[in-house]
Amino acid sequence: MQPQQGNLFVVAAPSGAGKSSLVKALLEVDARLKLSISHTTRAPRGQEVHGREYYFVSDAEFDRMVAEGAFLEWAQVHGHRYGTSRLGIEARMAAGEDVVLEIDYQGALQIRRQFPAAVLIFILPPSWDELRARLQRRGEDSADTIELRLHNAAREMAHVDHFDFVIINDIFERALFDLKAITHAQRLRVAAQRRAHPQIFAALGLSDTAI
Ligand code: 5GP
Repeated sequence: MQPQQGNLFVVAAPSGAGKSSLVKALLEVDARLKLSISHTTRAPRGQEVHGREYYFVSDAEFDRMVAEGAFLEWAQVHGHRYGTSRLGIEARMAAGEDVVLEIDYQGALQIRRQFPAAVLIFILPPSWDELRARLQRRGEDSADTIELRLHNAAREMAHVDHFDFVIINDIFERALFDLKAITHAQRLRVAAQRRAHPQIFAALGLSDTAI
């Protein structure tokens, strides 16, 4: 088990459930939370920038990082490889910062094995009809690709029971409230409060030697 200081939040969802918009909105109102930038072998899309959405790397570079043990987790998703680099996450958490990972369920389960205290959050759409409608509204995909994404969504959602929390993203503001509530509650855990306010605990004579 790794020593853990900051909180680690892992958010997974099927494509179209609104995961990225929710995490983006959370980051805008929560300065203590840092988003981990993943490495991927897929090509940049549209306005994506290297080092902002992802670090875009070649297959050879990804292979090298896997061989060196540079990833905390990695997985094949929709035909491309994605990984969370160990560097950065461990340093941030050791410095007491909270980190959020926006990754797929395979990665989330790998993270759980290494960081048992990680908080795993799953975002669900309110219905199949709404998920299909959102994918259609995005206008990024052909009808075939949308059917493939829906098929993959069923596989992804089948793992929901391995997660700690579920947010149903029906009304965006409500879902954002739920996400804030989870991060907030996590920071109120006894261990987290001890780390955040050591002077108060010490002054109250609440030494943690019993733990
Ligand atoms: P996209 O290519 O649409 O940005 O992402 C495709 C999928 O890959 C999404 O489900 C996303 O959460 C997942 N993903 C992005 N980064 C990582 C990562 O570092 N590890 C894993 N396991 N999945 C990731």
